[in-house]
Amino acid sequence: MSAPGPVPECFVLATANPDKAAEIAEILAAAGVGITLTPRPTDVPDVVEDAATLEDNARLKAVALVAATGSPTIADDTGLEVDALGGAPGVHSARFAGPDATYADNCAHLLAQMTEVTTDDRRARFVTVAIARWPDGRELVAYGAVEGHITTEARGDGGFGYDAVFAPAERSGVTFAELTAPEKHAISHRGRAFRTLARQIAELPDSDGADEGA
Ligand code: IMP
Repeated sequence: MSAPGPVPECFVLATANPDKAAEIAEILAAAGVGITLTPRPTDVPDVVEDAATLEDNARLKAVALVAATGSPTIADDTGLEVDALGGAPGVHSARFAGPDATYADNCAHLLAQMTEVTTDDRRARFVTVAIARWPDGRELVAYGAVEGHITTEARGDGGFGYDAVFAPAERSGVTFAELTAPEKHAISHRGRAFRTLARQIAELPDSDGADEGA
């Protein structure tokens, strides 16, 4: 791959999910890496996320937003993988309970699928793929994951999505929804993926041109 050009500090954020956008902004601000995010323009149509993997879904969003805006873009995709369900909901996490499912619907559907699953077999993980993509097709890809288990009932008011039914292994007994936002970001799939992506962006050759010319 050729040496990247100047490092843009400003990226369009591809996600249309305000909960994810808020977390990404908090994580990057706390990382102190000087990346500025522009919200996704409201006139860009929804991207159909029909790829087979989280990475390919994230890339679909990155490519679509770069094409729509002409600007460098950061996109991501997240899945909850439950071992007892063969890795489901995975890429289908947003619509696990149906096309118009709410977060509460998805949590209820997940718990209902697992009524017969014993404590020892409730292992699960969140995985996030974060992609920075430039108009010339260059991109950086970063993964983040957090191991845990699915609780038997929803607990906590924080976070979003499946947070109230996911207990991270690194914090004994509490769900993501019972942690503060900084506590979640410190160990979360999204925190890990975006801190890695930010590091990769920071390590690109300097925008002053000193490392260019290859
Ligand atoms: P997306 O495809 O990245 O938008 O994520 C798919 C779905 O996973 C979302 O609609 C949420 O239900 C769920 N999700 C994503 N990130 C999180 C998280 O940090 N905590 C809990 N659920 C999440």
